[in-house]
Amino acid sequence: MKHHKLLKEASRIIEPYCISNGGKFRLRDHDPADTNSVKNKQAAQSLLEDGIVCLSHMQEKLYAQDRWALLLIFQAMDAAGKDGAIKHVMSGVNPQGCEVHAFKSPSVEELNHDYLWRNHKVVPERGKIGIFNRSYYEEVLVVRVHPTFLRAQKLPDRLVTKHIWEERYEDINAFERYLTRNGIVIRKFFLHVSKEEQKRRFIERLEDSKKNWKFSMADVQERSFWKDYQEAYDEAIQQTATKHAPWYIVPADNKWFTRLVVAAAILEALNDLNLAFPDVEKSKRKELAAVRASLLAEKD
Ligand code: ATP
Ligand code: MG
Repeated sequence: MKHHKLLKEASRIIEPYCISNGGKFRLRDHDPADTNSVKNKQAAQSLLEDGIVCLSHMQEKLYAQDRWALLLIFQAMDAAGKDGAIKHVMSGVNPQGCEVHAFKSPSVEELNHDYLWRNHKVVPERGKIGIFNRSYYEEVLVVRVHPTFLRAQKLPDRLVTKHIWEERYEDINAFERYLTRNGIVIRKFFLHVSKEEQKRRFIERLEDSKKNWKFSMADVQERSFWKDYQEAYDEAIQQTATKHAPWYIVPADNKWFTRLVVAAAILEALNDLNLAFPDVEKSKRKELAAVRASLLAEKD
C-alpha cells in the first residue's frame, strides 16, 4: 500500500481509541473485542506488514536525525499480550535504535530512591525508541490496589496522606510534560483485555505444555482484584491523558487487532515529526565527492 494511504488508514484505525483528554473516561465504555471494521485477521496482517516496513524506514530517519526520541509505555492486566505486541510491532526495527525495559517489583536499591528514578535513568536518548513494558504507572495501579507496596517504599509518614494518588498524577503529568519539552515524544498504551478472554488465556497456559512457563500463581491472585484494577486504571487514565502524552485504549481480545492498533499509533506519532535524513552541507558534499574520486582511482 502507498505510504500516504497507509498513514490515512492508520489514522482511521486508531481514532476511536486515542484519549487525549481524560474527562469522564471509563474502561467499561470501551469494548475489548472491537476491531473497528478491519475485516479479519488476514486483512490486519497484511496492513501490519506494510506498517512494519514503513515504521522501519521512519525509525532509520529518527536515528539519523538524532533530535527526537520516542517513549512507548505499555500497561495492561496479565495475559493481555504486551510482550507479543512489542515483539511483533518492533520486528522490523533496527535493534540498535530500540530499547525495551521491563519494570517489575522494585529492588531494594530502587526502593531507596524516589519512584521515578529507575524510569528516568532509562528514558530513550535522542534518535531512539524506548519501550517501557510496565512503567511508573504501576505506582498508581498495583501500589494503589495493594497498600503493602506503598508501605515498602519507606516514605516519611507525614508525606503519606489521602492526597497521595492525586499528588502522584500531578508529578507524573509534570514529568511527562518535562520529557515532551525535551523532545521525547510519549505514547501510552493500555491493552484492554476482557476478564473472560484473560481466563481463556490462563487456561491455555495451563493446558499447553509450551505455554506452561508463562503461567504464574500471582497472575490468578491479581485476577481476583480485577474490579480494583479497573477503577485504578479509570482514574489513572482520566488524570493523565493529555494531548502531548495520550493514552490509547487498545482492544486486546484479538491479538491481531491489538498489534495493528499499536503499530498504527506509532506510525502516526513518527509521521507527525516530519522526519528526514539530515542535509549534508555543500562543502561537505564536495569533500565526499573528492574521497569518492580518490577511492575509485585506487590501483588495488
Ligand atoms: P508477563 O506478561 O510476563 O506476566 P509482567 O509485566 O506481568 O509480564 P511479571 O514478572 O509477571 O511481568 O510481573 C511484574 C509485576 O511487578 C507485576 O505484577 C507488576 O504489577 C509488578 N510491579 C511493577 N512495578 C511495581 C511497583 N512499582 N511496585 C510493586 N509492584 C510492581
Ligand atoms: Mg505477569
